[in-house]
Amino acid sequence: MLLNGRKTADTLNDLLKLKVDKLNKKPRLEIILVGNNPASQSYVKGKLKTASKMGMNVNITNLPENALQEDVESVIQDFNLNDDVHGILLQLPLPKQLDSDQLIGLIDYKKDVDGFHTMNQGLLFQNKLGIRPATPQGIIMLLDYYNIPLEGLHAVIIGRSQIVGAPIAKMLLDKNATVTITHSKTKNLAALTKQADILVAAIGKPKFVTKDMVKPGAVVIDVGINRVEGKLVGDVDFDEVNSVAGYITPVPKGVGPMTICALAHNLYKLYKEQEKA
Ligand code: NAD
Repeated sequence: MLLNGRKTADTLNDLLKLKVDKLNKKPRLEIILVGNNPASQSYVKGKLKTASKMGMNVNITNLPENALQEDVESVIQDFNLNDDVHGILLQLPLPKQLDSDQLIGLIDYKKDVDGFHTMNQGLLFQNKLGIRPATPQGIIMLLDYYNIPLEGLHAVIIGRSQIVGAPIAKMLLDKNATVTITHSKTKNLAALTKQADILVAAIGKPKFVTKDMVKPGAVVIDVGINRVEGKLVGDVDFDEVNSVAGYITPVPKGVGPMTICALAHNLYKLYKEQEKA
């Protein structure tokens, strides 16, 4: 069965819009985009479009490819100090001359809509309330929407990045799944993935997960976004794996729209926190 991220996101976004419509002020998101990375430009456009449709106020600050650390710092600092700004998003990856960790650390964690700040990552690690990174949060929202039980199931994650693999592992653990994290140095990967009731692929390699790596009936979440000959493909060989999986997300229209949906929910949460303070 298809886990339709597009439809789920549309439904959840419509529900969020009803809440946003009732606010007397619009939640405001500031996106900082440095350089001309085409994938980043397209992601930013998607975020702008969805959040704007929900009645949120979204602005993009474009900085040139050769921007200096202090140029980005000063934009972040201005937004940190501006009480009308509820969320700040620094679109990654950044050009090589910039230190992403330092810049993310500079964002006021109470405006950290992406949940990448060390404070939010710490809150996640301790299973305390905080902003969760949008992609794993979107995956959890999708699994919840389809009422897929997680407790006691074996979740295998391929990939351990700070933005997807590591946080989704922790979030599934907090849902009482038994979690195995695998990565580029893992030996005999297929032997582990074949045990997965839930398999999350966040690798960045087109069609990496094949049918023989998947247990029949497993829930397969494909996070990958790879451009192959002008087409978007995931990290899972969809056509093959679809015939064995119990549930599977497509690419596109799977995890992508859920990420933006989670981001909008994060912004709303930040707004509520700030406006009550
Ligand atoms: P990353 O490059 O930071 O991490 C990739 C991970 O894959 C690493 O932890 C690495 O150890 C692991 N890996 C690499 N080769 C492997 C191998 N042969 N066997 C096992 N593990 C291996 O990537 P990321 O930022 O986590 O993104 C992963 C993919 O997800 C990319 O395609 C990215 O574009 C996509 N992505 C999609 C969304 C979305 O909204 N759908 C959001 C973020 C990332």
